[in-house]
Amino acid sequence: MSSEAIAREVARRRTFAIISHPDAGKSTMTEALALHARVIGEAGAIHGKAGRKSTVSDWMEMEKARGISVSSTALQFTYGDAVINLVDTPGHADFSEDTYRVLTAVDAAVMLIDAAKGLEPQTLKLFQVCRHRGIPVITVINKWDRPGRTPLELIDEIAERIGLTPTPLFFPVGIAGDFRGLLDRREGSYVRFTRTAGGATIAPEELMSADAAQDREGDEWTAAVEESELLTEMGQDHDQELFLAGETSPMIFASAMLNFGVRQLLDTLVELAPPPAGRESVDHVTREVTDPFSAVVFKVQAGMDASHRDRLAFMRIVSGEFERGMVVTHAQTGKPFATKYAQAVFGRDRATVDTAYPGDVVGLVNAMTLAPGDTLYTDPSVEYPPIPSFAPEHFAVLRADSAGKYKQFRKGMDQLDSEGVVQVLRNDLRGDASPVLAAVGPMQFEVVTARLKAEFGVDTSVEFLGFSLARRTDEDSASELDRQRGVEVFTRSDGVRLALVSDKWRLQYIEKEHPDLTLEPLVATA
Ligand code: GDP
Repeated sequence: MSSEAIAREVARRRTFAIISHPDAGKSTMTEALALHARVIGEAGAIHGKAGRKSTVSDWMEMEKARGISVSSTALQFTYGDAVINLVDTPGHADFSEDTYRVLTAVDAAVMLIDAAKGLEPQTLKLFQVCRHRGIPVITVINKWDRPGRTPLELIDEIAERIGLTPTPLFFPVGIAGDFRGLLDRREGSYVRFTRTAGGATIAPEELMSADAAQDREGDEWTAAVEESELLTEMGQDHDQELFLAGETSPMIFASAMLNFGVRQLLDTLVELAPPPAGRESVDHVTREVTDPFSAVVFKVQAGMDASHRDRLAFMRIVSGEFERGMVVTHAQTGKPFATKYAQAVFGRDRATVDTAYPGDVVGLVNAMTLAPGDTLYTDPSVEYPPIPSFAPEHFAVLRADSAGKYKQFRKGMDQLDSEGVVQVLRNDLRGDASPVLAAVGPMQFEVVTARLKAEFGVDTSVEFLGFSLARRTDEDSASELDRQRGVEVFTRSDGVRLALVSDKWRLQYIEKEHPDLTLEPLVATA
């Protein structure tokens, strides 16, 4: 394919993730987006006869029936001429380092906030990762059909707590719980919605002039216009440069359940979110999107059964055209990697499974050697910087139940460590037989014990430690820190020194008493 043709494919792509706290409505919004767009090849699976509740089970059935993994890792759909990739950020119980790693594979994020709850902890953590990586954020205030806070309260909370300035594009007409429509602040016009039964279909929209809106909605329209003018006076109008710089966030009020504001979100993604761009290599050379094929692995999913075959690696294409079957090079080992079993992560037509472009996510089965952060390419060679480790919040000692299995235990730990399944910490005091595992979510420990048993035949036990946060420190500070109550210093396998601290009050106390000690926050999370 010519580079002009690749450039055209890239220009129409948008790759994003939804960051939210459990229950804010991510699944409902995902379905609503799919309803408005056309899921490539699989529209029926999303909105099957069984209704909206069946999404997850449908995906799993599909996975079984076709023997491929769809796992909702990435959903691809077309919207008008645009091709949209929605990459899932696992949440709830499966919150793990992968949740953060996904954010290295997207070009924009939609921060979905419950109108009644405002900013919640998981959203904050994910937002910090976006900020760290310079990912622009579109904010959606969801559940406007239910009683909640006022628009200005929500806007202030975001501005004050995370220093991100919301610039609403679509302002609600009607208070939370009385959602009538949206004031298009740039056009000055009104989009009035009509409810459909159970929100099962696209909500009909009526577009009206300001005068017609005034006649129709009276005081509700006046209130929306006044608050919008107030925002303009405060400089809170959309500015593309500030948005891309991560300083402001276009905001939309919506109800995923009623499908209100969903078209506006899609239009905003297409209009404002950046298309895939080239990426800088470890040698500081930018590989442009139209250059030969390259991709970054951002997630590796290993099944918990004994079979090695179900190791699935997800790559985001950075440059060039991907064709299934092409042989690529794995930059970390220099070895060829056959992509015969490349799969559209979400089941697609056979005709389109075979090619993919920058911004797309492709699953590779049998990916024994691939780890998150790894680069794949066709010549000329390239290697992208590794994905950083994220701040762990859960810590546990791992021990083999039987001392006789120590060798396998050690081998297994090295393998899981190199795959980035969990962070492995050691210090002289504890020795090698009982490393400390550090994780973003406790499910990572379960994966470790299950895989050690299945793949290395070692039974292990996990003992949780009473630490809740980690700080980066250095050799000079280590011995003084080790003397502090509620602190223990370790070396991570990448050589970084980490001080584990029992809780934030302990940390504050130590920082106050010993201002000279090095205690730096780790990448990203709040
Ligand atoms: P997730 O955990 O973020 O994926 O949230 P879900 O999409 O599962 O939604 C959590 C709950 O909120 C479900 O009961 C949804 O029906 C409900 N919900 C989601 N969006 C809306 C909305 O816009 N309005 C109302 N009233 N309820 C919603």
